[in-house]
Amino acid sequence: MRCVVANWKMNLRSEEAHAFCEDLLLHIAPEPQAEVGIAPPFTLLSLVSGLVRPKGLHVFGQNGHAEDKGAFTGEISMPQLRDVGCSGVLLGHSERRQFFGETDAALAKKIKAAWQWDLLPLLCIGETLAQRDAGETLAVLGQQLSILSQTGPGPLWVAYEPVWAIGTGRRAEAPQVLEAHGFIRAELIRHGACADYEVPILYGGSVTPESFPELLNIPEVAGGLVGGASLDPHKFAALVKQAG
Ligand code: PEP
Repeated sequence: MRCVVANWKMNLRSEEAHAFCEDLLLHIAPEPQAEVGIAPPFTLLSLVSGLVRPKGLHVFGQNGHAEDKGAFTGEISMPQLRDVGCSGVLLGHSERRQFFGETDAALAKKIKAAWQWDLLPLLCIGETLAQRDAGETLAVLGQQLSILSQTGPGPLWVAYEPVWAIGTGRRAEAPQVLEAHGFIRAELIRHGACADYEVPILYGGSVTPESFPELLNIPEVAGGLVGGASLDPHKFAALVKQAG
């Protein structure tokens, strides 16, 4: 299974999102060979779901709270994501970890809450440049994946996103991706995550149509989580075709 997911972050408004979806759907085959997802900001979830879910695309929230409801001003719950047509939720994106204090403990609860509401979690993990330079990459990835011993197995996608490659134009080198994805697969197996579920491992970090084919040739790279290039429907459609 190949997967390509657009992370729009805090970009686009209704009119732009509408035009994007129409353009994208025109440019990808009626039934794309890859699993395709879009993670719009909360304000666009309903609009985007209405346009792309009938065509078989996934729609992901960019975050979700572990509680179903309550006094959590500014948060959105998993049932609310379902209510606006989401099929999944991004969890643990490095920008959430870095700027909003997302912790592994919170992520374990969020994964379980997502499953309870039949949402597919796309768990993002990755090391900072300082951690890579200190030779801590695999230890960091192992720590971030250790929450799976608390959650148990369930439907899951994982994205390896080296923090230093996100939005920087600096993509990880093939041997770095090979090592990280191989390690992640071994950890997923060790935690029993792959026994009953196919768990694809996506790469994220400055993916473009120029770099994607090489990445897709690396063992255990099942697709991409794409930020910048996903804001252009033609580039995103090209990525979907490459993955198909
Ligand atoms: C991301 O936001 O997950 C991402 C990978 O961004 P970019 O493609 O812009 O590096």
